[in-house]
Amino acid sequence: MSTALSINNIEVIYDHVILVLKGVSLAVPEGKIVALLGANGAGKSTTLKAISNLLTAERGNVTKGSIAFRGERVDRMTPNDLVQRGVIQVMEGRHCFAHLTVEENLLTGAYTRRIRHAEVKQELEKIYAYFPRLKVRRKSQSGYTSGGEQQMTAIGRAMMAKPSMILLDEPSMGLAPQIVEEIFEIVRDLNTREKVSFLLAEQNTLVALRHADFGYILENGRVVMEGAARELADNEDVKEFYLGVS
Ligand code: ATP
Repeated sequence: MSTALSINNIEVIYDHVILVLKGVSLAVPEGKIVALLGANGAGKSTTLKAISNLLTAERGNVTKGSIAFRGERVDRMTPNDLVQRGVIQVMEGRHCFAHLTVEENLLTGAYTRRIRHAEVKQELEKIYAYFPRLKVRRKSQSGYTSGGEQQMTAIGRAMMAKPSMILLDEPSMGLAPQIVEEIFEIVRDLNTREKVSFLLAEQNTLVALRHADFGYILENGRVVMEGAARELADNEDVKEFYLGVS
């Protein structure tokens, strides 16, 4: 099993003073789904932004450690360099363009990686096959679609860039359990059929562990537990602290 993404001992500081990640290491094997779990404020989003190099916009800085994608150091690259290598982030809160239609939002994804014109229609049809709801809503302004449809649009837009890895931040946020389940099933499908690896940050431990291959639990900027998703789901501490059962 080769490693797609590896993060080695990174530290992140905000505003030159606030140490938020205190030496985080993790790996995403090629073709797998890895869940990054932990409570609100544990550092999940910061980890994803560190990978995509989106921290500087928020006065954040990686001050130690290294990040590699397919063996190449990427921690000094621009967000666009990462996109060109097929690593696409879906931000927390979806960030669809509210005034654009669902289809126009999807098309912006093809632009980010300059997919050939002839391929665009074909890619769009592929996305609609995974997300039939988006086909029905393709002419609606995204701002008027549901939270679940916006999350699907955001993932679909990332897929339009033909990614090899998607960094997915909190896909379940604010969505009804049934929609969350639907979205995670599509993620699993995209992983299996399109061979996209996923690193997903999630507070919903139960759902994430049910669909992921591996999991890491972050507490206060440190990895406190890691392992196969099934083993974590059966672990007594995880059950007590994160799954609400004991
Ligand atoms: P959430 O699910 O709420 O997004 P998280 O696990 O993703 O939680 P982060 O958003 O990475 O956590 O935040 C980790 C810590 O860093 C928190 O204490 C947060 O307040 C702090 N933090 C996040 N962004 C900034 C910023 N731009 N400036 C200063 N501190 C920040």
